[in-house]
Amino acid sequence: MKKIAVITGGGSGIGEAAAKRFAKEGMTVCLFDVKESRAEEVKKEIISDGGEALAFEVDVSDEDQVTNALKEISQQFGTIDCLFNNAGINGTLESIEEMKVEDWDNTIHTNLRSTFIMVKHIVPYMKKQGGSIVITSSINGNRTFSNFGMSAYSTSKAGQVAFMKMAALELAQYNIRVNAICPGAIETNIEENTNPKDSIQEIEIPVEYPEGSHPLKEKAGSPEQVADVVYFLVSGASSHVTGTAMFVDGAESLL
Ligand code: NAD
Repeated sequence: MKKIAVITGGGSGIGEAAAKRFAKEGMTVCLFDVKESRAEEVKKEIISDGGEALAFEVDVSDEDQVTNALKEISQQFGTIDCLFNNAGINGTLESIEEMKVEDWDNTIHTNLRSTFIMVKHIVPYMKKQGGSIVITSSINGNRTFSNFGMSAYSTSKAGQVAFMKMAALELAQYNIRVNAICPGAIETNIEENTNPKDSIQEIEIPVEYPEGSHPLKEKAGSPEQVADVVYFLVSGASSHVTGTAMFVDGAESLL
């Protein structure tokens, strides 16, 4: 039987690449995105390539929207095997002093609160047969703290890794594995959800990188390179891997 995967932020970037990879490997992919037209577009491409995909307009920080979509999937397929919890924004980049509480909340809600909501509500559908959850964190908040103005983003990404470790232990009894990926710079559309403010100039500390800041290839990674790692983490090839944060950054964050 085909495995059923839910992919949040499946309409663009890393989520889109993972959806296409999962579908190629024979999984049925359910794309959750706040921008449904993008998820629909990806769904169409997957279907025209012979895969199976569904698209849902879901804001992952909205509990009702999440539970309704999950219910619909379980009614259709009876089970959910994988969650790629990936939707996220950079949000407002600003000095701590200037950042509005609502901008802080927006980033934390979109990236971190949503992770709790997704995992909480998917567990009942995975408990019986086991499953795999992969959370997209970041080098920011884990190894990298020099992207000034990203206090909310980095906090949300550090929180996701702490939550992943708690969930890995708690859900091991159901044979649900929980891991995180920490990408470095990846070529996606994330700039659309990035709102830098002038106050960053006041808090920036000049950081001198060695020439070329991506040691492995001297350029940003591709969403497909991240998707390869995500597929490894949901596949049987990683059956003994849980509670791990995997860096996908060409060693960028070690500089
Ligand atoms: P992207 O903007 O290309 O894709 C993100 C998708 O998530 C978009 O389709 C967007 O509409 C969707 N989304 C945003 N808010 C949502 C919400 N509330 N509910 C549902 N969908 C929502 O960006 P990406 O780079 O592919 O980002 C995916 C993840 O990767 C994010 O969690 C991001 O923090 C993380 N990440 C990205 C990079 C990078 O350099 N691109 C690096 C490290 C981590």
